[in-house]
Amino acid sequence: SVFVVAVDGPAGSGKSSVSRLAARRLGYGYLDTGAAYRALAWHVLEHEGDTSDSTGVLDFVGDFDYAISLDPDDYWVRVGGTDVTDAIREPRVSEAVSGVARIAPIRESVNALFRALVAESDRPGIVVEGRDITTVVFPQAPVRILLTASPDVRAERRSAELAAQDPSSVADALSRRDASDSTVVDFLTPAPGVTLVDSTDLDLDQTVQAVLDVIGE
Ligand code: C5P
Repeated sequence: SVFVVAVDGPAGSGKSSVSRLAARRLGYGYLDTGAAYRALAWHVLEHEGDTSDSTGVLDFVGDFDYAISLDPDDYWVRVGGTDVTDAIREPRVSEAVSGVARIAPIRESVNALFRALVAESDRPGIVVEGRDITTVVFPQAPVRILLTASPDVRAERRSAELAAQDPSSVADALSRRDASDSTVVDFLTPAPGVTLVDSTDLDLDQTVQAVLDVIGE
């Protein structure tokens, strides 16, 4: 079976970049689970649905045709025939995604999808990143890591990524999303057996190395 490295953490912790780079170094696959919630939120918005209406959102799951690359060197996300790799990072999607992610049957169905994707992976291992991977999706993973950073550093990193947007509104949107997400899953304190990696004072390379150290590479 596939060797799973589970990585959780809040937005701006460096989770996505670090997980992808670590996967590349190890020759492993990479699964970004947040992309599934984002793609579903995008799909609902695209059909002018209401992402805060939980029963309404469930109606969109039936024809939600989702595909994601597990290749850390060639990352893409598709819904139906449409490439949504960039569209799912738009602020309107970031604002709507928490509402979709708090719907329990949605979480169950995407979790089943994540387990199926991992089982089908053709590489020796896979780095799976999200909010509840170490606790809910793969609680038995041989390596489980919680990546954190101080709120200020996370807001700074996110504003650097979203250079076109005002830093203080990026910080506000980030803390709103964290507050909403953390009522659903606790991604700020490591569960028993989960290794905490704090990237506040580390650059990207150092954080990747810290994660590889935990894996034992
Ligand atoms: O990781 P990213 O910031 O792209 O995740 C987008 C959103 O998807 C999060 O804000 C959260 O609402 C949801 N999410 C989740 N569980 C995961 C991954 C993401 O609820 N495992």
